[in-house]
Amino acid sequence: MRLSQYFLPLLKETPSEAQIASHRLMLRAGMIRQTAAGIYTWLPLGFRVLQKVEQIVREEQDAAGALELLMPTLQPAELWRESGRYEDYGDEMLRFKDRHKREMLYGPTNEELITEVFRQAVRSYRDLPKNLYHIQWKFRDEVRPRFGVMRGREFLMKDNYSFDVDKAASLVSYFRMFKAYMKTFKRMGLTPIPVRAATGPIGGDLSHEFHVEAETGESQLYFDSEIEKLDEDKIDPASPTVQDELLHWYAATDEKHDAAAFARVPEARQRVARGIEVGQLFYFGTKYSAPMKATVAGPKGDTVAVEMGSYGIGVSRLVGAIIEAFHDDDGIIWPESVAPFRVGLINLRPGDKQCGEACDQLYHRLMGSGIDTLYDEREESPGAKFATMDLIGLPWQVIIGPRGLKQGVVELKERKTGAKQELSLDAAVARLVGLR
Ligand code: ATP
Ligand code: MG
Repeated sequence: MRLSQYFLPLLKETPSEAQIASHRLMLRAGMIRQTAAGIYTWLPLGFRVLQKVEQIVREEQDAAGALELLMPTLQPAELWRESGRYEDYGDEMLRFKDRHKREMLYGPTNEELITEVFRQAVRSYRDLPKNLYHIQWKFRDEVRPRFGVMRGREFLMKDNYSFDVDKAASLVSYFRMFKAYMKTFKRMGLTPIPVRAATGPIGGDLSHEFHVEAETGESQLYFDSEIEKLDEDKIDPASPTVQDELLHWYAATDEKHDAAAFARVPEARQRVARGIEVGQLFYFGTKYSAPMKATVAGPKGDTVAVEMGSYGIGVSRLVGAIIEAFHDDDGIIWPESVAPFRVGLINLRPGDKQCGEACDQLYHRLMGSGIDTLYDEREESPGAKFATMDLIGLPWQVIIGPRGLKQGVVELKERKTGAKQELSLDAAVARLVGLR
């Protein structure tokens, strides 16, 4: 992409309404614009990152055996009356009527709707287990939307729902998601901390939240620091021993915190930190299936209400959380897996024929090798170009100017370390292609 043709409205001033780094940087780097309180437009650069995050979430869901579908954002109130949640949910739910005066709502979550989809279709335990997911916008009329996309009112969530014949099978589905979540967040460069959590309006008695440590996080966490070393590849979701181990590891939000149990963790490993909640798992048994009559014929010819769990990931919140984890004073530092472009190419002297030719050549070779490159060929000062690239945080920069070209070299800069290296244009292409 040529920067002169792109849509990248940067802000020079630090926006005063933004209290935390990720919100400030997303506004300054032209990733988002606020449309109304807690409601954002995703501009091209931000949208690219959102889609990368979404795709990682999708791939790990698919790999874990979940099936993607797409439910609507709008739902009829009557479904929520069946579960009893229509009255319970409170002011966070956006309610309205259509032209026929039918009561509708903008979905804050989808337990009722998926239960309706399931009960219409599945009749026998032989068709279980099933795990269905979608990635869809949610609306929750948060009392205090803040921190940009971290606590929005409209936000993108991946939510899935498992259906099993009994509790033991449902726990296997639960821990399969536990494992998938560890993988998902690690692929984004994050260190996820899974903690025992309260269940809130979703209900049930078993829940984990996945957090990313950050001083600006809204949750207080208490955990055994060894949990950061948890190797998800070693998790066998079907093993009761493994399940038990994961349940007994000390890691909890303040609501679930037990000071006496925490005191038994070796002192050097006791960690108290702030965290951003990026995902949550719930096992809630028959809370929805029983009142909504989502039943199947069981193995003994009996009728059983299916055992369910639900699992959410805050896709749009993750974009903010990743920035909280990876930035410095100059801007964002994207992990490769979610970067909007892999390489930023800077032409230091756009008017110069040799510079233009070298840049064009590099640009075409990188794009030809499938490496997304943002090419800054604008008439701007070198300082402004460097600052823009550092702000938007692409992992690699290639800087081409007349002085280097005379010696046959270009400069390769790694955003994360700031390390610079001079090498030939061919070697630069080979390095960047080799990194993929
Ligand atoms: P929170 O405690 O932060 O309000 P929650 O526990 O109510 O979140 P869940 O029902 O667990 O939210 O939703 C699944 C995921 O969706 C959360 O883990 C979080 O990452 C994301 N999420 C929830 N609310 C918001 C919001 N207002 N803005 C952005 N993301 C959100
Ligand atoms: Mg939650």
